[in-house]
Amino acid sequence: MTNAEAVARSLAAVWHPCTQMKAHERFPLVPIRSAEGAWLHDFEGRRYLDGVSSWWVNLLGHGHPEVAAAIQDQLGRLSHVMLAGFTHEPVIELSERLARLAPGKLGHAFFASDGASATEIALKMAFHYWANRGLRGKNRFVALEGGYHGETVGALAVTDVAIFRDAYAPLLRENLQVPFPTAPGAIDALEALLSSRHAEIAALIVEPLVQGASGMRMYPPEYLARARELCTKYHVLLIADEIMAGFGRTGTLFAFEQAGPGVAPDLMCLSKGITGGFLPLSCVLCTDEVYAAFYDDDVSRGFLHSHSYTGNALACRAACAVLQVLERDSVIAANREKAALFSKAAAVLATQRSVHDFRHLGMIWAFEVHTKAPDFARRAFERALALGVLLRPIGNTVYFMPPYCVDGAQFNLLVDAGLAIATELGEVP
Ligand SMILES: *Cc1c(COP(=O)(O)O)cnc(C)c1O
Repeated sequence: MTNAEAVARSLAAVWHPCTQMKAHERFPLVPIRSAEGAWLHDFEGRRYLDGVSSWWVNLLGHGHPEVAAAIQDQLGRLSHVMLAGFTHEPVIELSERLARLAPGKLGHAFFASDGASATEIALKMAFHYWANRGLRGKNRFVALEGGYHGETVGALAVTDVAIFRDAYAPLLRENLQVPFPTAPGAIDALEALLSSRHAEIAALIVEPLVQGASGMRMYPPEYLARARELCTKYHVLLIADEIMAGFGRTGTLFAFEQAGPGVAPDLMCLSKGITGGFLPLSCVLCTDEVYAAFYDDDVSRGFLHSHSYTGNALACRAACAVLQVLERDSVIAANREKAALFSKAAAVLATQRSVHDFRHLGMIWAFEVHTKAPDFARRAFERALALGVLLRPIGNTVYFMPPYCVDGAQFNLLVDAGLAIATELGEVP
């Protein structure tokens, strides 16, 4: 295939996600033939630095040899078996590892294949937990202003990103919203809501430390500790959506760890980086207490939820390999040293007159560009692409979220692309 052939055939047959397809008459679809480390290669020898880890999933770099080898080994044994009534080594090993590594006592793992399904599972589980305890009135969810938890109908109902939500608003159940953690009085507002309406609230769902899809909005861990106290006080479950934040992205294996020792959610959603970006997999971890509320002679008190590929053996094996590499190579500690150097290199962005709110957390860097151009994100994407860099700004937010294998020279390419965007497309206010 040539680049042109791949583009033409794709546009004729493939409906691409999160895309107004007609816009591809004007902006390019990028054909990729292969990938290695932080690089994506097209069909004609051009390469692009993957500055967004391919939608935040690619953790260790493309084609990581150990993850690939683990999948290959697993292919020779067992690709998949239904998980209802059956079990296998990779799902056992992964569940045990996650239970050991997660904050608190999240000792039971329920699997699905994508992030939105993990959100659905967490919401249904939270509701059913209270129903099993005789509190069927607790059937609403509280979410943060600007939160994103996926785009299926249930997950979208706790998502606050207009571009995803507005078109489907009539389908969505009404939930409750509290202010973003850094807004004045945010904790008081949460307490006021929980204290007055806890009888109808099953759970609070948050993206710990950073809201991804609404523009890499970061907030301090103290909020999580306070939210935990309030949830406990008012009998509301706390769901940590670590689908983006998990597996080291925020500088600790799980973002919630930064809330302090002993502070933990009741349910935790994981996906994206879990398989290193190799295979679709998601997981909800829950406490013994949640699990126990379903454990009964009565079938209908069980969690009767399933997906065909629940606990897929190849995906679980890939996830085990990822955890092994993270641990053995002390990847997260190494990232901290890398990130300190990278932040120095990126500091020049903060000094640009068209840039404001430069921020950094773990392996995420983000800044806002002053501009009134409504098509800034697309133009910035194209500008970076011309420099051989894949960036995908959200509104006026430009961010770098590279795979952890990124080196100093590669990071400098991200900074150069950021500078080109800021100086050529930004406006000085
Ligand atoms: C991506 C994401 C989801 C949804 O995951 P999908 O696999 O895209 O369905 C949910 N929550 C957060 C925080 C995410 O970043």
